[in-house]
Amino acid sequence: MTENYDLHCHSTASDGALSPTELVRRAHEHGVTSLALTDHDTVSGISEAQREAKATGIHLIPGIELSASWQNKCFHIVGLGINPDYPPLREATFNLQVMRMERAEKIAEKLEKKRIPGALEAVKKAAGEGMITRSHFADFLLSQFHVSTQQEAFDRYLGAGKAAFVSTTWSDLELAVNWITGSGGVAVLAHPLRYKLTASWMKRLLTAFKQAGGLGIEVVTGRYNADEIRTVAAYATRFELAGSVGSDFHNPANPWVELGRLGTLPESINPVWNLLSNVQE
Ligand code: AMP
Ligand code: MN
Ligand code: MN
Ligand code: MN
Repeated sequence: MTENYDLHCHSTASDGALSPTELVRRAHEHGVTSLALTDHDTVSGISEAQREAKATGIHLIPGIELSASWQNKCFHIVGLGINPDYPPLREATFNLQVMRMERAEKIAEKLEKKRIPGALEAVKKAAGEGMITRSHFADFLLSQFHVSTQQEAFDRYLGAGKAAFVSTTWSDLELAVNWITGSGGVAVLAHPLRYKLTASWMKRLLTAFKQAGGLGIEVVTGRYNADEIRTVAAYATRFELAGSVGSDFHNPANPWVELGRLGTLPESINPVWNLLSNVQE
């Protein structure tokens, strides 16, 4: 059987719409053979996903997507093949949950000043036991008709510098990479073109990322076209990084991104799964 890797997606443990069980089932239905669950700053969905993966016969790679700060900007680092029980990683996710709750309180206060009450209760309810993210606020603003799309919620309220934006200092990039590698995982820079860096800043970032122990870069995402894939592949080659492939799937209601529906990793790129020792069980 041909392998089909999807190494980046979200469940209700963070801002995904599907439970870990539903997510694994959907991945299987869409032909994914190896799936990495990479929720924002949490590993809490992995055990449920692992159970369903065993039942379904698909390979589940434990993962995470860590928020990290570098040069006062937020970057996302995907960890693949992590050990979710590694104590420093556990402690980090616990602290991140506290940080996210405090941030949510501040975002809600800012919305209240804009005469939009009730956000905190709504996002807490929607997130349940999971991590509260800005996506939860976007959904709330949408449900209350303050905006007509998720994008508008970010453009008017939640995006950097907007009315309800709360600047957050996440853990240092180096620390985030260390939690991943220390737990036996491979650190991958997520969606590198989303940060809108100039070529020279991208080089600085990749140099720092490599120095910290980063080994991979997402060359193929659910949204990259052929040109973008070529651009990132060139960075992967130049910085000798392995290439990852991940949809960043969140919600079946979004028709643009689907589990397992991804471009092909260029043949010149070393696939990141070659670095994951336990892919074939
Ligand atoms: P947070 O980690 O809480 O800052 O939330 C970030 C999440 O919000 C991302 O993982 C995306 O799922 C979502 N997001 C960020 N920017 C946008 C945007 N412009 N439009 C829609 N969703 C976004
Ligand atoms: Mn997200
Ligand atoms: Mn991300
Ligand atoms: Mn993501």
